[in-house]
Amino acid sequence: MSCLKSHQISLSFSVSRATTPSRRKDLKAIKEPSLGVLPEVDNENSPMLPTAMTPRSSKRKSAQLVSSRIRRQLGTQLDFNSDGEDDEEFLPSKKELQSSSEDEEEEEKVDSDEEVAVKKSKRGASGSRTPRSTQKTRSSTRTPRKTPSKKTTPNTPRTPRHITPSIPSRSLPARQPANVLEEASTRLHVSAVPDSLPCREQEFQDVYSFVESKIMDGTGGCMYISGVPGTGKTATVHEVMRCLQHASDMDEIPPFHFIEINGMKMTDPHQAYVQILQKMTGQKATADHAAALLEKRFSSPAPRKETTVLLVDELDLLWTRKQNVMYNLFDWPTRRHARLVVLTIANTMDLPERIMINRVASRLGLTRMSFQPYSFKQLQQIIMSRLNKVKAFEEDALQLVSRKVAALSGDARRCLDICRRATEICEHSAPNPSSTGLVGMTHVMEALNEMFSSAYVTAIKCASVQEQLFLRAVIAEFRRLGLEESTFQQVFVQHQALCRVEGLQPITVLEGLAVCQRLGACRLLLLEPSRLGVQQRVRLNVSQDDILYALKAD
Ligand code: ATP
Ligand code: MG
Repeated sequence: MSCLKSHQISLSFSVSRATTPSRRKDLKAIKEPSLGVLPEVDNENSPMLPTAMTPRSSKRKSAQLVSSRIRRQLGTQLDFNSDGEDDEEFLPSKKELQSSSEDEEEEEKVDSDEEVAVKKSKRGASGSRTPRSTQKTRSSTRTPRKTPSKKTTPNTPRTPRHITPSIPSRSLPARQPANVLEEASTRLHVSAVPDSLPCREQEFQDVYSFVESKIMDGTGGCMYISGVPGTGKTATVHEVMRCLQHASDMDEIPPFHFIEINGMKMTDPHQAYVQILQKMTGQKATADHAAALLEKRFSSPAPRKETTVLLVDELDLLWTRKQNVMYNLFDWPTRRHARLVVLTIANTMDLPERIMINRVASRLGLTRMSFQPYSFKQLQQIIMSRLNKVKAFEEDALQLVSRKVAALSGDARRCLDICRRATEICEHSAPNPSSTGLVGMTHVMEALNEMFSSAYVTAIKCASVQEQLFLRAVIAEFRRLGLEESTFQQVFVQHQALCRVEGLQPITVLEGLAVCQRLGACRLLLLEPSRLGVQQRVRLNVSQDDILYALKAD
């Protein structure tokens, strides 16, 4: 709202500035058009007069003062005009009319001596300098009896009062894809909403039945959905909610209220309370107050007897030291009358166990669901369904991408990105008479190399055997923990095990620490600087995909 206001204000100013010259011309042509602006200046509600520009206590008084001064000034100016003086310096634009009296005083001071002399003589002629007498004189000679209507002054700039800024409509329709490759590229974009979600039929069904049953029974519950990135968690849940909304619109299920928050979009985990409260009730409150209000709301019977479905995406990021945000999200749906269904999505498998470390885990009664990484066949199917019969890829090329990605992570997002890049490479490659015009193996290989050919990948490839093994140990430990952070000690245990598997001589703790420090110095690892030794925390500074790709490529 305030944004709109400021927009209106700046808009009105720019309009008045832009149109001033034409108004000046009109002033010469029409006898007294400049006075037509006076009523508008007097109007304290006019958008032309932002409250910030007038003292709070005496808005009306100052407006009157301004108007009388303007009349006085205009009277003087009209007299100048009659003398053939250039009106540019005196005829104020709308904004100028609203400027404070101080500005006027200043302007008067800097006037030339000659102008001062003329002004004095004019004042002498009118008898007095007080605004009252000036007004009297002017009203008898200049001011029209009636306020000029808007119609009579067509050239007076007016700012629409309740304008909603709009974007000009397209003059040309959006460009259609020029060729097959362009169309394929559009369809493969991760932001494009797919027509269907193949390979997630079972997960869709499970989530749908869970939410539907809770809505039908008027009860609450919580579902914990986990899986590695790009396995279609968000896409599937969104599709479920879209279908449930449709069913509700068709009166097949009772109405419900769907709200969504995302841990990634919050600067602080406690913002979750603020957002949930605002989306549920429209109320704005501080985090603490919002938490208290939500606690109260979920402890008492739900008003309107309507189920609320709350989707919490990227739950991992709502981790707090006391874990109270996550705990509440799991706890609220268990309240008897809350009528709250919470769907939580995270990458970590055992987050609930970690939260409930000192509490009674069984109380939660969570329904769990795990999204497995896509296999190569599934990735191939997903790409084919996205392309929807647009023949842009050679069969082998598609298989290569799917196999490569499935071997690394099974991430559909990455697979789509590589395919999309391959279509771009194919489009911009030099025309080859022997080529089919389709995306082939060479294009896909180039896209794959581009995706994984960062300096980090080169550094991993060039690292020593023990360093490479240590990176593999980090990934193994992260996967075991389901977290992206560990301690040197934990990783070292994995490293020793890997040494045995690979038939290498296990290294000592000191040697292991040296390996870890070297990887930290290359910025492949992020090490906790303050606490050295076996307890120091270890994180990756590269994606797991990059490490696996670099090590598998060998
Ligand atoms: P993250 O954990 O990183 O949030 P996610 O599991 O939520 O990942 P999504 O955002 O749902 O992953 O999916 C990533 C991309 O892959 C989206 O563009 C989505 O449309 C696409 N995608 C995932 N699974 C499928 C599928 N089965 N069919 C078609 N497209 C899919
Ligand atoms: Mg997601």
